[in-house]
Amino acid sequence: METKFKRCTLCGKEWGTEEEFLSDRTVHYNGHQKNKKKIPLPTGTDGLFIFTHLIDECGTSIAIAVSKFKEAPAMA
Ligand SMILES: [Zn+2]
Repeated sequence: METKFKRCTLCGKEWGTEEEFLSDRTVHYNGHQKNKKKIPLPTGTDGLFIFTHLIDECGTSIAIAVSKFKEAPAMA
């Protein structure tokens, strides 16, 4: 029944919880992208948070629906 919070689509790194993901220094928060046009999202979501996985072997962008978060990440 355990569900991981997020898995990196490129390198396969997994984060078990929201807290673990947001406190990972290799995850850089890029901002909030409103769901204006292209990406269909289920109802109840309000756009995406965009992150970059900043490690040498990866560097991919990770998009997570806003509804997955209990709290919005702080723009640092
Ligand atoms: Zn990665």
